Amino acid sequence: MPIYKVKLKCKQEIAAGTMAFHFEKPAGFFYKAGQSADCTLINPAETDAEGNTRVFSLASAPYEADLIVATRMRDTAFKRVLKTMEPGTELTLDAPYGSFTLHNNASVPAVFLTGGIGVTPVKSIVLQAIHDNVPHRILVFYSNSRPEDAAFLDDLMKSHVTNPNYTFVGTMTQMEKSSREWHGESGLISKAMLLKYIVDLTLPIYYIDGPPAMVTAMRKLLSEAGVDDDNIRTEEFSGY
Ligand SMILES: Cc1cc2nc3c(=O)[nH]c(=O)nc-3n(C[C@H](O)[C@H](O)[C@H](O)COP(=O)(O)OP(=O)(O)OC[C@H]3O[C@@H](n4cnc5c(N)ncnc54)[C@H](O)[C@@H]3O)c2cc1C
Repeated sequence: MPIYKVKLKCKQEIAAGTMAFHFEKPAGFFYKAGQSADCTLINPAETDAEGNTRVFSLASAPYEADLIVATRMRDTAFKRVLKTMEPGTELTLDAPYGSFTLHNNASVPAVFLTGGIGVTPVKSIVLQAIHDNVPHRILVFYSNSRPEDAAFLDDLMKSHVTNPNYTFVGTMTQMEKSSREWHGESGLISKAMLLKYIVDLTLPIYYIDGPPAMVTAMRKLLSEAGVDDDNIRTEEFSGY
């Protein structure tokens, strides 16, 4: 893939311990919603055994002006440097990679099962699909401990209101630790929860994306519900 240098435009906290970084999109850079990028720090002030590169999904939709990545700000050398980067600083982008992208056949519904920061490619795919007015039926199940932890929650919820083909199902697993109101689902994503919104679980193509433990649990749930392996696509955020 071509290698680009991209300039940081701005950064902001978008959920508890979670930041989004906006970069200038280089001329001639094209990607599909859901794809990812290898991001490398240039001459960072510090480094560690994991090195200066991390893979991040592009959380921005291709129609958006900026390239956006979002991450949980753990205390690693890479993220300490990223957090303190000033606007105008450049990093290297090796991209785009990956096939975690929406299928073409619009008669088959797309169901996204995601949690935590695994939401990044889902946000990109959903916003692009709505922007392009695609005919697919799209359902997103998004699990978090609390609304405070849920990055892009508003973007994904808002789109639900104006798009009859799109259903958003948020679920929280630790509302007792939250100070916000929540009127959505609670508890882990389960077969019973899916059946409230999907009549025949064997019809859709499923996109599971998040930490490896979540991907394993969701794949098991779907297999036990009789979903064909061919209809399950996964993206594991290794490193969590
Ligand atoms: C295709 C793909 C897309 C991805 N997209 C994203 C994305 O959009 N956003 C995103 O945030 N990540 C994404 N990731 C994961 C990302 O590449 C990093 O692995 C992740 O952010 C962890 O980086 P780190 O610097 O926090 O930890 P690293 O320094 O990479 O350390 C990883 C290892 O150390 C352990 N570790 C480090 N710090 C801690 C800690 N505080 N607590 C517990 N364990 C710790 C981890 O368990 C792991 O074993 C993606 C990964 C892939 C493969």
